[in-house]
Amino acid sequence: MTTDPRQAALTAATTPEPWDILVIGGGASGLGTAVEAATRGYRTLLLEAHDYAKGTSSRSTKLVHGGVRYLAQGNVSLVREALYERGLLKRNAPHLVRDLGFLIAAYKWWAAPFYGIGLKMYDLLAGKLNLQASRYVNKAQALARTPTLKQAGLKGGILYFDGQFDDSRLAITLMRSLEDHGGVTLNHAPVVGLIREGSRVVGARFRDDETGQEHEVRAKAVVNATGVFVDDIRRMERSDVKPMLSPSQGVHVVVDRRFLPGDSAIMVPRTDDGRVLFAVPWHDHVVIGTTDTPVPETSLEPRALPEEIDFILRTAAQYMDPAPTRADVRSVYVGLRPLVKAAEGTDTKSLSRDHVIRISDGGLITLTGGKWTTYRRMGEDTVNRAAAQAGLPERLSLTAGLKLHGATQADLPDHWKVYGTDAEWVQTLPGANQKLHQALPYTEAEVRWAARAEQARTVEDVLSRRLRALLLNAQASIEAAPRVAAILAEELGRDQAWQAGQVRAYTDVAQGYVLR
Ligand SMILES: Cc1cc2nc3c(=O)[nH]c(=O)nc-3n(C[C@H](O)[C@H](O)[C@H](O)COP(=O)(O)OP(=O)(O)OC[C@H]3O[C@@H](n4cnc5c(N)ncnc54)[C@H](O)[C@@H]3O)c2cc1C
Repeated sequence: MTTDPRQAALTAATTPEPWDILVIGGGASGLGTAVEAATRGYRTLLLEAHDYAKGTSSRSTKLVHGGVRYLAQGNVSLVREALYERGLLKRNAPHLVRDLGFLIAAYKWWAAPFYGIGLKMYDLLAGKLNLQASRYVNKAQALARTPTLKQAGLKGGILYFDGQFDDSRLAITLMRSLEDHGGVTLNHAPVVGLIREGSRVVGARFRDDETGQEHEVRAKAVVNATGVFVDDIRRMERSDVKPMLSPSQGVHVVVDRRFLPGDSAIMVPRTDDGRVLFAVPWHDHVVIGTTDTPVPETSLEPRALPEEIDFILRTAAQYMDPAPTRADVRSVYVGLRPLVKAAEGTDTKSLSRDHVIRISDGGLITLTGGKWTTYRRMGEDTVNRAAAQAGLPERLSLTAGLKLHGATQADLPDHWKVYGTDAEWVQTLPGANQKLHQALPYTEAEVRWAARAEQARTVEDVLSRRLRALLLNAQASIEAAPRVAAILAEELGRDQAWQAGQVRAYTDVAQGYVLR
C-alpha cells in the first residue's frame, strides 16, 4: 500500500484562506474553467460530487468537431469557433485527439455535390488549423474506406475530416494539468450548500463522501459548472429561481469493430427524424449514435428508451451491411445535454449548443451549454467574468498554447496512447502484462496507476472513466470488477467488505449498460 494522496488534497482544500476561484463540477466546463484559472495564477479549487466526467462528459460521441450540423443551420460563428478550438486541442493534447475521415455516402446523384459544397465551407472556416481537405470519392474509394457500407445504389460520397478523442481521458488529463499548475481538486466531494454573507455568495459547504464529514470553503468567486445539475446549485442560492435548462438525452450503442472495419467513420447527414447519425471507430469498437429526446428529469444514470435503440439500429441498417442487431450491442450509454431553455414550445434539436454564462444577484457564476470541443474557450470566458467580478488582478489567458498533461506526439499503441508521456510509468507498475479480462485491452498496472496518480476511488471510477471498459463491453467489465476491487483495496487499504460492496455497486450501475 502507498500513502493515500486524497488526504493531502483534502487538507489543502480546507485551508482557511479564501480561494480566488471555487469551481463546482468536474466535467468539461468545470475542468476547463479550473485549468484556465490556475494557469493564470489564481488560487483555484475544484469540487466534484462523484467523479471527473461522471456526467455528460464521459458520454459524448467522441468528436472534436466544428459541427457540420450547425453549419447546415447557418450558425457560422459557432462552427468557426469550434473548428479553431479543434485545432488547438489537437496541438495541445495530441495523445488524446486524432484526425478521422468521415464518409457521407451518396445514393442519389445530387447528394455528393450538395454536401461537397457545404464541406468546402467547413474546410475554409477552419482556416490555418484545417485538417485534410474534404474531397469527392468514387464508389470504389468509398468502399475501401468503409467496406461495410451498403453497396446497392451507392454512387460515391464525400470524405471530410474532423477530430476524435477520448472524452473522460481528456477530463482526467485536465485534472492532472490542474494539479500540475497548483490547483487543488477533489472528487467524491459534493457541494451541499452555498455560504452567503448578506446577499453575496462567498463559498460553499461540501461533504467528503468517504467520511461523511462536511467542510466549508470560502472563495472570492464561485463558479457553478454542474452540467444538467446547474439549477440544483442555483436553487441553493435562491429556492425560487426559474430553471435555465431543458435537458434532452442522447443514446449511443457500441458494437464490435467488424461492423466498420475500415479507417473512416460514417456520417449520416439526415436521418428520418432530421438529425445526423455517426458510426465512429473508437478503441477498436464502433460507437453509433445519437438521439435527441427531451427528458423531464435529470439523472446521473439516464436510461435509453427502447425506441431510441430501435431508431439507431434501424438507421444503421440503412447504411451498413452487415448491420448490427440488438444481440451485437456491447454497451449502451446515455448522455444528457445541458441545453439552455428557449421559449415555450421550442424543439430541443434547435436549441442553442453555444455556452451561456449567467451571474446571479449574489454573484454566483453559472456556466452551461456549449460542447466538449469548446471547453477551453468556455473556461477562458468564464474566468474573464469571474476575475472581473471578484476584483482579481487581470491576467492574460495562457491556455491556447498550453500543452496538457502528458502531451506527446509519440505514436504509442492505441490503449497506451491516452496516457501520453505517463505511459512508460504506468508500464513499470506490477501487472503491466496481466490483462484484466480477455475481451478488454486493459491491464492490472493501469488500475494501480489510476489509484496512485489519477484519483480513482471506486471500481466505477476505474472501469468507466480511467479505463473505458464500461463503454466498450459492459458485461466483460462486470466480470472484471472483482479483480479491480481487489487491486484497489490493496492500493487504498480497504477490506473484504469494501470490495464486496464495490462489486455490488458497480454491477448495479453497469447492468444499465447491458442491452437485454
Ligand atoms: C449525447 C451527447 C453527445 C455529445 N457529443 C459531443 C461530441 O462528440 N463532441 C463535443 O464536443 N461535445 C459533445 N457533446 C457535448 C458535451 O459532451 C457536453 O457539452 C459537455 O460534456 C458538458 O460538460 P459539463 O461539464 O457542462 O457537464 P457534465 O459533464 O455533466 O459535468 C457536470 C459535473 O458536475 C458534477 N456535479 C453535479 N452536482 C454537483 C454538486 N452538487 N457538487 C459538485 N459537483 C457536482 C457532476 O457529477 C458532473 O461531473 C455531447 C453531448 C451529448 C449529451
